[in-house]
Amino acid sequence: AKRQGKSSYAHFTPEMSEVSHERLQMESRMRRALELNEFELYFQPIVKTATGKVHAVEALLRWNNPAMGMIMPDRFIPLAEETGLIIAIGEWVLEQACLAATGWRAITGRDIGISVNVSPRQFRDSGFINAVMRALSNNDLAPQLLELEITERLLLDNSIETAEILRELDRAGIRLSVDDFGTGYSALSYLKSYPFDTLKIDRTFINDVTKTQGGGSLVRAIINMAHSLGLTIIAEGVEEEAQTLFLKQEGCDMSQGYFYSRPLPAGEFNEWLNTNHQ
Ligand code: C2E
Ligand code: CA
Ligand code: CA
Ligand code: CA
Repeated sequence: AKRQGKSSYAHFTPEMSEVSHERLQMESRMRRALELNEFELYFQPIVKTATGKVHAVEALLRWNNPAMGMIMPDRFIPLAEETGLIIAIGEWVLEQACLAATGWRAITGRDIGISVNVSPRQFRDSGFINAVMRALSNNDLAPQLLELEITERLLLDNSIETAEILRELDRAGIRLSVDDFGTGYSALSYLKSYPFDTLKIDRTFINDVTKTQGGGSLVRAIINMAHSLGLTIIAEGVEEEAQTLFLKQEGCDMSQGYFYSRPLPAGEFNEWLNTNHQ
């Protein structure tokens, strides 16, 4: 109905009320989800491309609601952002992610880093840096083991505040990565002015490596650029062996994707780690 033009906005169609009713219901369910313990973190390994050895782990949020089943983040993070609920949810994620990371040392006998996704609203909240510091100290986790994943979209505003938050996190020893690299920003100059440690190449580029002509050369160029800037590079969405061979050959530092493991709930992930950490 929306596409028919401005005038149709004036009429509240049954379709629209259904959509907004669904939204309101989802919002009120989300408000209670934290107390009811309905959120869960899944974990996906990030491995060294050369050896396949686990280097770090990305925490990925799931919402288990009795009425709606398991809800994937793409379906509820936008609403959590709009309503501001992402701030409380994000604190919970940080806390749980740091807690999980402390357990992996016991399993592997070495340090395994944890990567946490941060959305723009959460990042800009005045309590964000404190929440990060609290999660680290509550769980006795070294800041070097925490990596915060931020998308390029967040940098579009070019604000002094954004730059200052990034610098403060960097000074505290926390690692910073650009998520979905190559999808959201046309200029690359920000890579020099912000203290990023890592670029995560978006999976659409990795997909192209074996599927389109010239797809590999773009990934090669990104890897070389990242390295010349002193950045670590992670390939996302690695699903096939052919991709791993290419990435090895091109010197891509880290890889992540279904080829190595799907995101797993904590118990299953610990089992995976137990048999795959050597
Ligand atoms: P993302 O940060 O780019 O996370 C990677 C997504 O790719 C995950 O989807 C993961 O399950 C999926 N993936 C991993 N390997 C492969 C692969 O080989 N092939 C394919 N096709 N997909 C793969 P997921 O878990 O559905 O998360 C979607 C997005 O939701 C994330 O994208 C991230 O932007 C957001 N998200 C997830 N957890 C959080 C969170 O705790 N906080 C915030 N703010 N956002 C989150
Ligand atoms: Ca991510
Ligand atoms: Ca740094
Ligand atoms: Ca990504």
